[in-house]
Amino acid sequence: MSCLNQGADASEAQAADGRSFNSFASMEPRPPVATPVAARNGKRVKEAAVPPQGVYLPNNNVLTPQMRSPEYVQMSTAAAITLGVMSGKMHRCSCTRCLNLLLTYPEGCRANCAYCGLARHRAADRDYAARNFIRVDWPAVPMAEIVERVARDGDRSPFHRMCISMITHPRSDEDTVSVLKAWTSRIDPSTIPVSILSNPTTMERADVQRLKDLGADIFTVALDAATPAIFDRTRGKGVQSPHKWQKYWEVLHHARDIFGPQKFGAHIIVGMGETEHELLALVQQLVDLGGHSHLFSFFPEQGSLMDHLPATPRDQWRRVQLARYLIDYAGVRVDQMVFDGEGRVTGYGLPEAEVERFVSEGVAFRTSGCPGKFRDDVSACDRPYGDSPPSNIASYPFQPTKQDLGKIRRQLKIPVVQG
Ligand code: SF4
Repeated sequence: MSCLNQGADASEAQAADGRSFNSFASMEPRPPVATPVAARNGKRVKEAAVPPQGVYLPNNNVLTPQMRSPEYVQMSTAAAITLGVMSGKMHRCSCTRCLNLLLTYPEGCRANCAYCGLARHRAADRDYAARNFIRVDWPAVPMAEIVERVARDGDRSPFHRMCISMITHPRSDEDTVSVLKAWTSRIDPSTIPVSILSNPTTMERADVQRLKDLGADIFTVALDAATPAIFDRTRGKGVQSPHKWQKYWEVLHHARDIFGPQKFGAHIIVGMGETEHELLALVQQLVDLGGHSHLFSFFPEQGSLMDHLPATPRDQWRRVQLARYLIDYAGVRVDQMVFDGEGRVTGYGLPEAEVERFVSEGVAFRTSGCPGKFRDDVSACDRPYGDSPPSNIASYPFQPTKQDLGKIRRQLKIPVVQG
């Protein structure tokens, strides 16, 4: 499946209760149902024992038990097209700048996060490497082949950054180290730097230090939920998942100490039941620590425990996107901003003309993430259509055009400037 054809127009988003934001009360995940024994821990794949045949394309090949990290990793559809291991075109994008790699095992991720397509409860209906994640398929490719292709391209590589996404698995700490070593043995990490999207649940301070010592550039923590209550409901006890808010913060603080200012950050999903003020207070907290936030607009991932819930309304998303950019890159503080009684942004802490300047520039509405080679506030990790369909873009994987900015202004409920 290409990244163009999933999800249709599900995100012409209005909140379930008719209000213009996703409230806590309206964003309750479904409870997970028990997985039949015959489908647990990759049993189907292990018993079929099909031999590996190089690249695995979801829905085209048969999964094999040998397809596990560190020998294999999965990569986003965008990365697979850019690397040339998969054919296809991306709407309005010629390539992605980030080679997103994901550890893979027949047993899959042992966590059960409610918004995630990779969650454990899906074992009943899809084998791990066949699951959709942030709206796209993730082909599995031998790590040696990836390194060979990128090393062969040398200075001509389209990639500005590589990212290793750990999942929750007993082997993920060791295998992240092996994947990082396989990369740095052939590719200079000062040419294509490496980010780690960590799994704090299995990590200690020494693990964070080891990744830094081996050449990782940026360390991020996928906090995802903006408040402890949402975290617990979507990634902890609420869905029989092992994660704990406090442990995530512990590892985030290790990352701050070890990787240093501007070299650590957190992923946050907007629209899972937090108020805009809660989310932006968290963004401020990260900036005060010396880090950055990378935002995702909630999208109901097919097959997840939240696939019945509404995507984040566009006005909520745009307000948070703009305010986060101003806090992260323009020195505005959350306490200078104005919020209404429901925690929605009604003032950005800047004169109107200044706000208009940032809106017109458009960078605030691009995908946020670890930087590439263009400028510090432009993410290498552009995740084309990872949080929306192309027909109603949430995070722009390219510089928005004048026409895009007109749509963004309408979504922000700012009058369209003529001329
Ligand atoms: S730990 Fe990550 S990959 Fe695993 S279910 Fe949670 S969000 Fe998905």
